[in-house]
Amino acid sequence: SNPQSLTQLFALDSLLEPEEIAIRDTVRKFSDDRIRPHIAQWFEDAKLPARDLAKELGGLGVLGMHLDGYGCAGMSATAYGLACLELEAVDSGIRSLVSVQGSLAMFSIHHWGSEEQKQEWLPRMAAGEAIGCFGLTEPDFGSNPAGMRTNAKRDGDDWILSGTKMWITNGSIADVAVVWAQTDLDEGPKGIRGFVVPTDTPGFSAPEIHAKMSLRASVTSELVLDGVRLPSSAMMPLAKGLRGPLTALGEARFGIAFGAIGAARDCLETAIDYAQSRIVFDKPLASFQLTQAKIADMALEVGKGHLLAYNLGRIKDRGEVTPEQISTGKLNSVREAIAIARECRTILGANGITLEYPVIRHANNLESVLTYEGTSEMHQLTIGKALTGEAAFR
Ligand code: FAD
Repeated sequence: SNPQSLTQLFALDSLLEPEEIAIRDTVRKFSDDRIRPHIAQWFEDAKLPARDLAKELGGLGVLGMHLDGYGCAGMSATAYGLACLELEAVDSGIRSLVSVQGSLAMFSIHHWGSEEQKQEWLPRMAAGEAIGCFGLTEPDFGSNPAGMRTNAKRDGDDWILSGTKMWITNGSIADVAVVWAQTDLDEGPKGIRGFVVPTDTPGFSAPEIHAKMSLRASVTSELVLDGVRLPSSAMMPLAKGLRGPLTALGEARFGIAFGAIGAARDCLETAIDYAQSRIVFDKPLASFQLTQAKIADMALEVGKGHLLAYNLGRIKDRGEVTPEQISTGKLNSVREAIAIARECRTILGANGITLEYPVIRHANNLESVLTYEGTSEMHQLTIGKALTGEAAFR
């Protein structure tokens, strides 16, 4: 009999509007036609043609697609999530480029920036002509960014930024960096403020981090701020304290709740396809009960992951989503996706360890996705606090 798709099994399209299905299908076609044929090579070479790709993604309308005005597409959160899902079905590195550009760098400027900052950067960033990065993490402060040492000191009307940021996606290729730093301003926790830093400012450098075994089709860098002098207007006026970067991170985590399910779906579809044609002990691997049990169990998680993500999209579009709800989506999607990627790898046997198939690439990528945008432990603690009323972070 004809096999069903996962979409049919869970009647997923019945939960989406025709316009959302159209956007999803457009992004899926772009991803399959323009990215999938090259992605294994980019991953192997650890080289991403990011500038060209950013322009193509800008043309597709996915950069800052859920923001309004300034050349952004003004789509719903659900539509943005669906785009993340389709991009990550090809590679988490491509979704990372889009997340950092749209949800971290552009969102920060859009939400917290001055009119001048918005006009200067957002239209070019939406078109993919300017690339942005978001510098929060430091070598000694990841899960606890409140401890950051990067600081901004006044010199007359200017600001002087000093410090080091670490693990910054798009860092070496960025035209603009949104950098979070301690100031002596007294509003907000320890006076953390965000600065819009053109990366050609003297004293700014962004050496690339090499030898990554995960997210190889993504640029990751250190940001070195060696007395970077900026005008007074470089500070984003509306972000005060950690709420600034944390609000942006919530936006990106929302995209990951969708995105990681895309990686899981791609692994499962690959494994089902492989199992149907691989002959073991004279029969297709797909005809063995152990294989079917694996496939059925993984399908349940992929299906439930979609339902959780779609529901998050709906509540975000109603303006009701909470950080705890985003944590449930991010934690569940990434944790299940990585387990599914590993289980699918077993179905592919030795073939599963090569870049011939997407599965080990997804599994390795998801190691980063499990850690960035809040580690799985941080999200467990967020959910734990929501349910018990007890904060266990320190
Ligand atoms: P740590 O905070 O040192 O944590 C190490 C381990 O300890 C983790 O398992 C953690 O969960 C656990 N832990 C920490 N505190 C507790 C606690 N209280 N209770 C229990 N367990 C705890 N950052 C940016 O700012 N911008 C970016 O663009 C960016 N891109 C990234 C790209 C990649 C590929 C990667 C890998 C990271 C990126 N990051 C970025 C950084 C990322 O956000 C951090 O790695 C993450 O926040 C974790 O910080 P850490 O690595 O310092 O780990």
